Amino acid sequence: MSAFAQPPGAGRKAVDVAIVGSGPTGMALAALLGCQGRSVVVLERYTGLYNLPRAAAFDDETMRTFQKLGVAEKMLPGTNVQRGYVWVNGDDEVLLDIEFDNPGRCGWPAQYMMYQPHLESVLDELITSLPTVEIRRGMTVESVDQQDGDDVLVRATDVEGSAYLVRARYVVGCDGGNGVVRQFAGGELDDYGFFENWLVCDFQLNRDVPDLPTFRQVCDPAEPIAIVNIGPRFHRFSFRLESAANREEVVHPDKVWPRVATYLTPEDAELVRVANYTFRSCITTQWRHRRILLAGDAAHQMPPFLAQGMVSGIRDARNLAWKLDMVLAGHPDSLLDTYQAEREPHVRYITEKAIELGRVQTMRDTALAAQRDAQMIAARKANQKPDKLRYPALSGGLIANHGDMFPQGLVSTSSTTALFDEIAGTGWLVVADGPQVLSGIAEGDRTAFTEIGGKEVIFGLTSMFDGAPVSDTAGVYTRWFAAHECVAAIVRPDGYVFGLARDAAELAGLAKELVAAVAPVPSRPPAPTA
Ligand SMILES: Cc1cc2nc3c(=O)[nH]c(=O)nc-3n(C[C@H](O)[C@H](O)[C@H](O)COP(=O)(O)OP(=O)(O)OC[C@H]3O[C@@H](n4cnc5c(N)ncnc54)[C@H](O)[C@@H]3O)c2cc1C
Repeated sequence: MSAFAQPPGAGRKAVDVAIVGSGPTGMALAALLGCQGRSVVVLERYTGLYNLPRAAAFDDETMRTFQKLGVAEKMLPGTNVQRGYVWVNGDDEVLLDIEFDNPGRCGWPAQYMMYQPHLESVLDELITSLPTVEIRRGMTVESVDQQDGDDVLVRATDVEGSAYLVRARYVVGCDGGNGVVRQFAGGELDDYGFFENWLVCDFQLNRDVPDLPTFRQVCDPAEPIAIVNIGPRFHRFSFRLESAANREEVVHPDKVWPRVATYLTPEDAELVRVANYTFRSCITTQWRHRRILLAGDAAHQMPPFLAQGMVSGIRDARNLAWKLDMVLAGHPDSLLDTYQAEREPHVRYITEKAIELGRVQTMRDTALAAQRDAQMIAARKANQKPDKLRYPALSGGLIANHGDMFPQGLVSTSSTTALFDEIAGTGWLVVADGPQVLSGIAEGDRTAFTEIGGKEVIFGLTSMFDGAPVSDTAGVYTRWFAAHECVAAIVRPDGYVFGLARDAAELAGLAKELVAAVAPVPSRPPAPTA
């Protein structure tokens, strides 16, 4: 049977994008593509929602993506805003005390603690409501075949063992660290060699427990512990296990309660889940092979010390969704090559930072831990604040000269005050300080920009002029433009800055560069037929 032949009796479907896996990455990607009207099928091996927490926290950039999807408010009941993060040593002396920004640069609190089943149920409700998205649960994907044509064939098996085929223009493997799609994308796993075994114990609180730390790292060389709240009325204790620990024995509730006795009693809470995890760090060398792409844990895994694994997967989804949408609309397929070019260095930076942080937090050597404690306590006494961790700007790919996230602050029009994205939208934007800055853009480039959905947002930041449509209510943009010594920015649909311009001529050049990079290819491929 040829790769594209259909087994007799197999169900089938044809779509723009097939997504394998409905974890947070797959659901976010399906929602983003569905909101753009793309036909999507999500194939998930489990028959229902997973319904157990894994990730504990997300950041303001993720919340900005939920805002784009119109579900930010719905996420809130499953979250707690986290004010800070404390490290203590085995003697309960504070080593580090970080305060999170509120709001962060994306306009939302910089750290949310969350109950993941709530997040997933909100995303599931959203994608189920989108007319062009279908989620098929109980479908285990076995293989992905691509030939030289315009599509790719995904073969799945349902719970009864029947075959199901999806023909798609692109397939995105969002099937997690042990997923199957990666093997069809080629490439190898670049393994950082980081292996740590952790015992993760989740509790549902029966009552308020005063003094229960909400986000604390106990850097005790005898047994490093992470204590985090995981959304309203849920709490997690994670213990780093010795490699020799008996992993079957430690999960027994009788063994768990003594470990948490300093903080919780069985009257305070119910133990709802105990799991052993091996935290690993690896990144695939090939995120795209023609029509096969990888996102989320399928492409990269990192230890959770920075709470950035799921967040990075949702970033992948945001980066990929608009590129897939444009390519499907006839813009150059090479746009998809910018995905790995942009995302891989970003993920590598965060992964390496997470490993570095984890090694400091979880030292088992008592002499080294004592040295660490002395240094950190001395720094605190000297009032030395640790540098805020900033993730790198995107580079390579479709970035002209900047690549950082465009900030989001409160802005006003004549009729309303709201967060920037609510007013400006989240497509391509030229954001300018005054209308005269736009005057140099060639007419043809302006038309091409409008054709990709581009809009202009005009502030009056440095000089008042009559009728400035948007005012910088919270001063976020006045400060940002001044700090970057620019008068205009071109912002991409994922909120990252394509380029900054210091004057009208530079903006005209940027617009030309963008329009050339995304110019539609002359003959558009036909749409798939159902
Ligand atoms: C203890 C712990 C704490 C963490 N804390 C944080 C945190 O605070 N913040 C954070 O951002 N991240 C955190 N992470 C990481 C985060 O959980 C992962 O990065 C995230 O879940 C990855 O999402 P994903 O959608 O890419 O993959 P997954 O969540 O693994 O989803 C993959 C999906 O694909 C499905 N699938 C697999 N194979 C197939 C197949 N062949 N056919 C069909 N479907 C398939 C699976 O059933 C699953 O539903 C933590 C992880 C752990 C373990």
